Amino acid sequence: MPRKISVTVWNEFRHEKTHKQVKEIYPDGMHAVIAAHLNAAGGISARLAALDEPEHGLTEKVLADTDVLTWWGHMAHGEVADEIVDRVQQHVIAGMGIICLHSAHFSKIFRRLMGTTCSLKWREVAEREIIWCSKPGHPIAAGLPEPIILEHTEMYGEFFDVPEPEATVFISNFAGGEVFRSGCAWTRGAGKVFYFRPGHETYPIFKDPNVLKVIENAVRWAAPAARTTITVSHRGEIGWFEKK
Ligand code: ZN
Repeated sequence: MPRKISVTVWNEFRHEKTHKQVKEIYPDGMHAVIAAHLNAAGGISARLAALDEPEHGLTEKVLADTDVLTWWGHMAHGEVADEIVDRVQQHVIAGMGIICLHSAHFSKIFRRLMGTTCSLKWREVAEREIIWCSKPGHPIAAGLPEPIILEHTEMYGEFFDVPEPEATVFISNFAGGEVFRSGCAWTRGAGKVFYFRPGHETYPIFKDPNVLKVIENAVRWAAPAARTTITVSHRGEIGWFEKK
């Protein structure tokens, strides 16, 4: 049997402790809901990590054993230690996949990987979002209805200040008329990066089967074949690779 994809589902895990409405939706945290789906999906082994754990639950050992990291944060981006951001970035460059969800657009790690402000327009009036597939045949869009409709969401609108994606898998439109590139893929070093827009904490977005399916597909897509080490090395002699 092939080895399972090892996933670490990282959550800031603060709203669920401090906001009644969010606690009611996700009593064990939204990461628990995402991980439960992944663990039931087959071929994936998901564990949890959160901001308030030592080293934010992202020790060198954990990351070395993580094929794909998923990230949700919102109210405490600034509390993520730069040392851990450095560490996660190094693992992405070496091949670990990362999936940044919703308000993780402003996380330190996503901004680090993008190198831009990652800013956008937003509005919170529980409006309808329609998610259209703009890359048919992409593995992240496999097995999903078209469109995906979420009745109550926070709006994110363009301009989304990120580098041009290598693939734009989904585009959303909102009741208010704005549009947004909701599913964007990049490569950084050997690592695959996917941003997926839905996930506002006061709506049960991570209980939507289509949203969970997108995350599952993204995990399978982002899992590396192998880790790599990228180094600089001097090879002074022509034909060095032919010698024993
Ligand atoms: Zn939000």
